[in-house]
Amino acid sequence: MPPIAATGHRRKVRFPTTNLPAKSSIATAHKTRPVNRATSSPSIGKMASPSQDPRPGVPALFTQPPPLRDPLVTETIDLQDATREKCLPFLKGIHSSQKEPFNACGVPTLQRDDHVGYLYDSLEDYPAGFVAMDSSRPWMVYWALAGLSLLGEDATRFRERVIVTLRPMQNPTGGFGGGHGQISHCAGSYAAVLALAMIGGEDAFTLIDRQAMWRWLGRLKQADGGFRVCEGGEEDVRGAYCAMTIISLLDLPLSLPHDAEARNAGLESFNSGLAEYLSRCQTFEGGISGSPGTEAHGAYAFCALACLSILGPPEETIIRHMNIPLLLSWLSARQYAPEGGLSGRTNKLVDGCYSHWVGGCWPLLQSALDGRPQTGAPETSVGSLFSREGLTRYILGCCQSHHGGLRDKPGKHADSYHTCYVLTGLSATQHHHYRTNSSVSSSKTFSSAFSWRSSPIRAEDNVFEKNDRLSPVHPLYVIPHRAVENMRLWSEARPLRV
Ligand SMILES: [Zn+2]
Repeated sequence: MPPIAATGHRRKVRFPTTNLPAKSSIATAHKTRPVNRATSSPSIGKMASPSQDPRPGVPALFTQPPPLRDPLVTETIDLQDATREKCLPFLKGIHSSQKEPFNACGVPTLQRDDHVGYLYDSLEDYPAGFVAMDSSRPWMVYWALAGLSLLGEDATRFRERVIVTLRPMQNPTGGFGGGHGQISHCAGSYAAVLALAMIGGEDAFTLIDRQAMWRWLGRLKQADGGFRVCEGGEEDVRGAYCAMTIISLLDLPLSLPHDAEARNAGLESFNSGLAEYLSRCQTFEGGISGSPGTEAHGAYAFCALACLSILGPPEETIIRHMNIPLLLSWLSARQYAPEGGLSGRTNKLVDGCYSHWVGGCWPLLQSALDGRPQTGAPETSVGSLFSREGLTRYILGCCQSHHGGLRDKPGKHADSYHTCYVLTGLSATQHHHYRTNSSVSSSKTFSSAFSWRSSPIRAEDNVFEKNDRLSPVHPLYVIPHRAVENMRLWSEARPLRV
């Protein structure tokens, strides 16, 4: 971001410097984060003895290896064993880097001020080594603002800076690039639109050339129903989710532009064939892959389920287009014990960012299984398809960096990507997301997408303290509900004539 309008919260950045591979995508962003392996970390090298007793309040499920063990020794199993041993002192609440206080359940408190400070830092200048993140500029803005919103901070204070930052990244041919002079990309456009929704206001909304965006997205629609992520780029479920997020938030016309190539295959609407395309992405395991025939992955699963939930009520779209028992089986297998955290793929390790990518699938599936919108007051105590306690223990115990910010797992550095999505996952453990009969949108097609509400689950039903409660975010758009509603209502009031 340009070094302007420094806020009272400005602090010196404290990121490690390193050369990074240039890449920008939802599914792979966590693999491109800055990591300096030469820098000593407080999370490693000070391991407590694994045999040391845990704090009171930590159940044996989270302090001991699993009772069943595959005797086969592979590199994967060795890595899993090493990860578990690294996590155990944190789960027990006995690692020297963990900050007091701990609650009666043996869980450390959320270091809110540290994380707020970290995210404010992340909006400031970067060392030269970060040049490879140049294609992720809109993401850096989105991750910071979304994380700050979850922590109760006011994102609108960054309005002018965000507008000045994003304006040059919009291309006259529609959409936003990941940086200055770069071609438009679905992922960068998604992050830019969500960031503008969060800061809100006329200047932010009018910045987006909706007409050009509509035409550009038309060029991404494919004959098989899916979307490319950019012109000439790959086709996958990220493209589909990002495109439908943008279309529904900005109330873009559903009919394809007349010059859209997909029209030659008989498609007329952005929705045409999309649910069927997503259905073909469900694999034999039950999870969802980036494109038909590839491996199931947590981030793609969220993109697909959220996209289906934008297209219509989950009890219709998800139930109709997914094999639910298989999906339940694969999603359930993503949560590990004793770690409590979630993995993104079969035989992979827990990673904090899947607290959102996989954790965020559960409210959508829950809604699909509930079957219909909720009427009346929400229940104060609700069941859960996953272990909220386990995920909360992993996040607060293993993912908080001593210096602020949240991370993949002990031994890794914090970064704004993980800080955003680990906090999103923590918020999901603290709230019940449900749909109502009342939508803020008058659109028939997207009525369901704008009918979601959130209510806090009781702190007594989980293991966090009341002060550790985060704000809820919309389960499909992953920004505050108010931001979603304001952008949609503003757009609906200004229908695009094409
Ligand atoms: Zn990650």
